Amino acid sequence: PAPFLSVRDLHVRFATEDGTVKAVDGLSFGLERGRTLGIVGESGSGKSVANLAVLGLHNPRNTTISGEIILDGQELTRASERTLQKLRGRKMAMIFQDSLAALSPYYTVGRQIAEPYIKHLGASRKAARERAVEMLDKVGIPRARTRVDDYPHQFSGGMRQRAMIAMALVCDPALVIADEPTTALDVTVQAQILDLLKDLQRETGTAIIIITHDLGVVANITDDVMVMYAGRCIERGTVGEVLKTPGHPYTWGLLGSIPRLTAPVDVPLSPIPGAPPSLISPPPGCPFHPRCGLTGQVGGARCSTERPDIPEGARHSSACHLTPDQKRTIFTEQIQPR
Ligand code: SF4
Ligand code: MG
Repeated sequence: PAPFLSVRDLHVRFATEDGTVKAVDGLSFGLERGRTLGIVGESGSGKSVANLAVLGLHNPRNTTISGEIILDGQELTRASERTLQKLRGRKMAMIFQDSLAALSPYYTVGRQIAEPYIKHLGASRKAARERAVEMLDKVGIPRARTRVDDYPHQFSGGMRQRAMIAMALVCDPALVIADEPTTALDVTVQAQILDLLKDLQRETGTAIIIITHDLGVVANITDDVMVMYAGRCIERGTVGEVLKTPGHPYTWGLLGSIPRLTAPVDVPLSPIPGAPPSLISPPPGCPFHPRCGLTGQVGGARCSTERPDIPEGARHSSACHLTPDQKRTIFTEQIQPR
């Protein structure tokens, strides 16, 4: 049976003055209810763009989408804006990085949380207000009933982030996509917000996608991890597999940015030198080859001529020409010295 969310061979392209940007270039993944998928990569890796496409929030005027996005049996790439609007908020919801941009300064927090409940579920104003209080309480706003009529500027940054989560979850969506949900917050609040998402998932069986550049976030909260580079998935597996026995040289580089205290692995690497490739004219072969120090291990010009792919249907796998043996040996002996 198809998973709850199934993305197959997704391509997202933007027309720009300089040419066509291949922001997402053949991405496939699935997600079940009650599971959390972490999508990790630098900015420009396509992780946000792919998820905006899932929600139908891309700009249709300059964006072309091909491939398949199926949510609970319903195909979304060809769905009308009306259908998508109905699904957003009720069945799928997005939590953004910037709560100030997501909340309007002109309406009370309670009213903004109540709004989707009225719109999607046809609740009365009174019932929706009660629901807003309940949601504020659920996301850990103290004395929720006395704060429900506050405006966003009367809340602290952490409280606004919680209010935004309350707004996203008010209709019990089956899929929640959180894009860098904690980046703007201090470490303690970050941990509280992630715990909160996990609690809500345990209660309602929500499927969660967390988009982040921080493998530390992934270590703490996700079940599965997908690492993206240049619009493609270059490694995927369970969180244990990807963090403990990563197979792709790019993932080895990313692991260097894990905060030590939260990470189950200890990899003394500096951030990856070089810049992400152009998505208008991506390098031939492996998109990572201009930054990779291991092309010599593969031999010949293979890295710069032949694009490695993730084998169809494989569990833990990485798109790199190194053999499984080489990946294991190089990682354990050179990247992660004991
Ligand atoms: Fe590096 Fe080659 Fe593997 Fe790409 S395929 S990550 S260039 S070793
Ligand atoms: Mg982004």
